[in-house]
Amino acid sequence: MRLRNIAGSREVIAESQYTVKDPETKKGLWKEVFGNDRPIHIEIGMGKGRFLMDLAEQNPNINYVGIEKYSSVLLRAIQKQELRQLPNVKFIRMEAEDITEVFAPSEVDKIYLNFSDPWPKDRHAKRRLPSREFLARYDKILKPDGVVEFKTDNMDLFDFALEEVEPAGWNLDAVTYDLHNDEVMNEGNVMTEYEERFSSQGNPIYKYIVSRKGSNLWTIA
Ligand code: SAH
Repeated sequence: MRLRNIAGSREVIAESQYTVKDPETKKGLWKEVFGNDRPIHIEIGMGKGRFLMDLAEQNPNINYVGIEKYSSVLLRAIQKQELRQLPNVKFIRMEAEDITEVFAPSEVDKIYLNFSDPWPKDRHAKRRLPSREFLARYDKILKPDGVVEFKTDNMDLFDFALEEVEPAGWNLDAVTYDLHNDEVMNEGNVMTEYEERFSSQGNPIYKYIVSRKGSNLWTIA
């Protein structure tokens, strides 16, 4: 994501009714934030948020929280949400590393990771959002039957992500190396902004779904 400093974006974020300020004070209290006890799905590294808002429109009975570290990017999501005004969408400007301070155990039903930063250097592996270190954090906030869904066009990052699943103690529930040509996994697929851009350049999209369910069933599509 290009880094641009958009004047005033921090102020807009601080004042927006769609962002949650001091999110660590909401830990265990997200039902109150949304005013209902519907399932909570989050996207970590949301970017401009179109994917999350499209899902929210399709699924009014699910609450969505979009997490993004850069205010200039989050500002774009807020501007879209001001037009769409989806009641089941909130945003947090934060660093994903702190996620366990913001959600209580079992508070989250599903985590989406879409086109996460690759951090190609070995010494930065821990910063990759599908790393075992991050899976350990997701383990602390997801319901027992909760899932992580990860999409990318980056082969190296995807291979890394697949290698992390077993050592982290998770199960690979489904995997595809060509999402858009996989009838089963592509059903109902909502494209992200990056997904649209990279697939239009001819890149295949990779996707996995992982969980901590007891089964060791590998569904190779
Ligand atoms: N999910 C969007 C954007 C992908 S780009 C899409 O698919 O179109 C990755 C985004 O994740 C960037 O906006 C980046 O700022 C954000 N991001 C990367 N690492 C993050 C982290 N550790 N915490 C929060 N956001 C992060």
